[in-house]
Amino acid sequence: MESFIEVTTAHMNATIPAYFTALDEVTKYNVELNIAERLWAAWYLWMQNDTLATGIMSFVMHEVVYFGRSLPWIIIGMIPYFNKYKIQDQKMPTWKEQMNCAFIVLISHFTVELPQIWFFHPIATYCGMDYGTPFPSLGKMAFQICVFFVMEDAWHYWLHRSLHYGPLYRSIHKMHHYYSAPFGLAAEYASPIEVMLLGLGTVGAPALWCYFTGDLHLITMYLWIVARLFQAVDAHSGYDFPWSLRNFLPFWAGAEHHDVHHEKFIGNYASSFRWWDKILDTEASAEARERRRGEKLAKAKKAQ
Ligand SMILES: [Zn+2]
Ligand SMILES: [Zn+2]
Repeated sequence: MESFIEVTTAHMNATIPAYFTALDEVTKYNVELNIAERLWAAWYLWMQNDTLATGIMSFVMHEVVYFGRSLPWIIIGMIPYFNKYKIQDQKMPTWKEQMNCAFIVLISHFTVELPQIWFFHPIATYCGMDYGTPFPSLGKMAFQICVFFVMEDAWHYWLHRSLHYGPLYRSIHKMHHYYSAPFGLAAEYASPIEVMLLGLGTVGAPALWCYFTGDLHLITMYLWIVARLFQAVDAHSGYDFPWSLRNFLPFWAGAEHHDVHHEKFIGNYASSFRWWDKILDTEASAEARERRRGEKLAKAKKAQ
């Protein structure tokens, strides 16, 4: 990427151009690139500082996706037709509740996440992450994102389960459980330590992958984070529709899985998939609780 920037910069009389001038230059000398790749290359060329370019892009992307994905859920909450799909239908979040939550989340994004995002570019490039053009193929990106989902889900299950251990719950995780009937904006309503620990799964999965395979592009990382943000916001939405993903992918967790966790406080610790809770018998559903109670009773009877 650096040599690419250097070569293209040489054509521009070493002056910092306007963004669209940079885009014109990239287009002139890189006709094989698609429009997304040209916009990307022009951004780095225009910024003239790769750490800053990645930092700003990461932060803006996170804010736009997090609040942008929460907005439809706020609107759905205002339309009575959708009430029949609300999982805890007696607990509708108020406008004030949602705005308070958004305010706290925003403060945490600026004070806790923003400084960390600044370290992202140097760490990513140290791990060997590519950020040049062209982008990898769609198939490769999709495969890597699927792997990250599986890795993050495992990390999330064990860490989240640990955070429910008394002292850790009281000192770290309690804040996230403030809303027993969650809504989209509440996905990142959590203590800074929790955001960091759980975020380690989201950033650590691709970092590990990159460290061992040496084959990861920053755009794949971004698409993964977008997908993960969608998953987190949707899991907190409080709505389960007949067209929700879990009805087509039975191992997908979705809102139906995580909403019960907020309601009951115990069980359903995984983020994206149902397999960890199923295999380790930590499901929170009424049927699973009933079955466990039956098994306990049978054991007690046998022991008598
Ligand atoms: Zn929890
Ligand atoms: Zn939650």
